[in-house]
Amino acid sequence: MAFEGLTERLQNAMRNLRGKGKVSESDLRATMREIRLALLEADVNFTVVRKFVKTVEERAKGAKVLEGLNPSQQIVKIVDEELTQMMGESAVPLNKSPKIPTVIMMVGLQGAGKTTTAGKIALKLKKEENARPLLVADDVYRPAAIEQLETVGKQIDVPVFQMGTDTDPVEIAKQGLAKAQADHNDYVIIDTAGRLQIDTDLMDELKNIKAEINPDEILLVVDAMTGQNAVATAEGFNDALGITGVVLTKLDGDTRGGAALSIRAVTDKPIKFVGQGEKMSDLDIFYPDRMASRILGMGDMLSLIEKTQQEYDEKQAAELSAKIKENSFDFNDFLDQLAQIQKMGPLDELMKMIPGMANNPALANVNMDPKDMEHIKAIIYSMTEQERTEPDVINPSRRRRISRGSGRPIQEVNRMIKQFNQMKTMMNKMSNGNMSEMENMMKA
Ligand code: GDP
Repeated sequence: MAFEGLTERLQNAMRNLRGKGKVSESDLRATMREIRLALLEADVNFTVVRKFVKTVEERAKGAKVLEGLNPSQQIVKIVDEELTQMMGESAVPLNKSPKIPTVIMMVGLQGAGKTTTAGKIALKLKKEENARPLLVADDVYRPAAIEQLETVGKQIDVPVFQMGTDTDPVEIAKQGLAKAQADHNDYVIIDTAGRLQIDTDLMDELKNIKAEINPDEILLVVDAMTGQNAVATAEGFNDALGITGVVLTKLDGDTRGGAALSIRAVTDKPIKFVGQGEKMSDLDIFYPDRMASRILGMGDMLSLIEKTQQEYDEKQAAELSAKIKENSFDFNDFLDQLAQIQKMGPLDELMKMIPGMANNPALANVNMDPKDMEHIKAIIYSMTEQERTEPDVINPSRRRRISRGSGRPIQEVNRMIKQFNQMKTMMNKMSNGNMSEMENMMKA
């Protein structure tokens, strides 16, 4: 999977902060050093890394303590936000011309995936916008290129315009556009020639095509697996031709991720799509925020952090923690907690957001049926006020009465009370000791 190494290293870097009530300057510095190395190893552009680390460090130092988040969660949040920012903040859609056809010019080095991506984009437009695109075969140097585009066109049922290999590419582009206008195609996608590397001949030809057809979009296709070379290619094309967006292909084979992380910051041009496989349907819109979470490997931990932040009531939390410390946590508090958890959403959904939990076999043994919550509540509602605040008075005959009152079997009442007592003991232990026990549990 993409970004494997980076994900692991970033997680390790931040794991060191877990369980710390306070993060000292030297803790932060050590973490930032790890993050810096992780990014460099992932082949992220050096200048981009330096700027990133500086920003995160400054923000982490200046951050005021957010309600309900511990320091390591806060740093995860900052790193996530800055990674997102580095990749462009939000998804950027294709440029669209006010009148049809929208003209898209595909450019890039040979083998980057230009022809394949031209087809993928045509298919996407067809499927998602019900559009009628026209593909134009404008690579006259590689004899197989025209044939390849025709094969792609047949596969996705999109017409392909071609004039063989003997016509000037500028003329082909012009005729292709005229054909699209005549046929009322919504999009015309021009597959231009590539070279093994950027050269002046190629750039001149592309500039001439650009001048002739005035494209709404010049999409540069780069191979993610080439890392910093992809970034240099993007810079080269952008300087010479002026691109409007980037498609990053072969992300499925890219284990480092440096190109995805650097291109936007270096060229200031958005990554619009990513190719994640050889099939025509393997093209996705590039969402910087989703990519950042994926890189951090935090599952939806970040949404969980955000939810906690929203739902967390500081005052309530302080009261609760005092009660736990005094060991006076009772069934009324338990009811409040259940309500709090329910406010956040279905419990099993919530559990799945914790990294590693979605497929954790332990979760299979935890019965998260929302009905269980209702049963627990029914049992507590059948207790008298004294039983709720002084659980120790609940003797066998009271248990039988509670069972009858709640309509739950006596075994369930017994189990619930036992679990409540275990939980209370554990919470009390943790609040009086350090948090490492809980942190260890979270790591499982
Ligand atoms: P062009 O020379 O730039 O037109 O490149 P092609 O479209 O011919 O693609 C070169 C090779 O890369 C082909 O074998 C494609 O199937 C493959 N390819 C393109 N995009 C992707 C992708 O996103 N993932 C993978 N795994 N392969 C891709």
